[in-house]
Amino acid sequence: MKNVLITGGSRGIGARCVRDFSDLGYRVYFTYNKSDKDARILSEQTGAVAIKCDVSDSCDVTEKLSKLSVDILVNNAGISQIKMMQDITEEDWDRMFSVNVKGMFLTSKAVMGNMIRNKWGRIINISSMWGEVGASCEVHYSASKAAVIGFTKALAKELAPSNITVNCVSPGVIMTDMNRELTEIDLENLCNETPLMRIGDVSDVSGAVMYLADEKASFITGTVIPVNGGIVI
Ligand code: NDP
Repeated sequence: MKNVLITGGSRGIGARCVRDFSDLGYRVYFTYNKSDKDARILSEQTGAVAIKCDVSDSCDVTEKLSKLSVDILVNNAGISQIKMMQDITEEDWDRMFSVNVKGMFLTSKAVMGNMIRNKWGRIINISSMWGEVGASCEVHYSASKAAVIGFTKALAKELAPSNITVNCVSPGVIMTDMNRELTEIDLENLCNETPLMRIGDVSDVSGAVMYLADEKASFITGTVIPVNGGIVI
């Protein structure tokens, strides 16, 4: 039985990954930051182990994650913010990169020793289509998600000799709390701009993550799999 660690598993895309991996019989651990109640309920429903751990905090990550034997890591925890470039503060910028980029660095570093020893591993990072094409009013978010792609490609080369694959999933617009600021009209416009004519569901992203985790994907590394309904081709 393989052990999976999903960061940011309490809600949204991460929670769906927790459910899908649990349903397939994997032993699942997930982290969260603030959502104690969601994490507790998800843990009770799935049997997955909830770990309160701020991925941007190196002490927290080392103390709570480095002792786990992780075979498959899904770096999903992330934050977003909509602001004009002129209004983004240094603090906003640092927070964005601390969670979205440093969190992925710290978590990968904490758990990859086990994968190297076992000569088998999967690291799956959640980027965003905005990391590929850039979003207006989300410069810091877009830059952090572009960094996820660069990190993925470099680490894929470094870990390939240890039979560890490192890939990205790059979602488009997915219905989660992260998009709660979008209005009905925004969502309708996005649907109309999307060739597949709908907003994505968390299961669309989880499906790609599950595929990359599977033995079937053992010859795929360093890639970015878009899950965006064709809005970016
Ligand atoms: P949600 O806001 O629904 O969930 C975010 C998750 O990340 C929560 O479980 C949250 O925990 C966790 N989290 C946030 N900060 C931290 C932290 N410092 N330490 C640990 N966990 C943390 O987001 P989504 O599910 O929509 O997004 C998941 C990933 O997918 C993100 O990386 C996001 O950038 C990416 N993505 C999402 C898209 C979308 O349209 N939804 C599109 C493209 C990419 P808690 O509940 O405790 O706050």
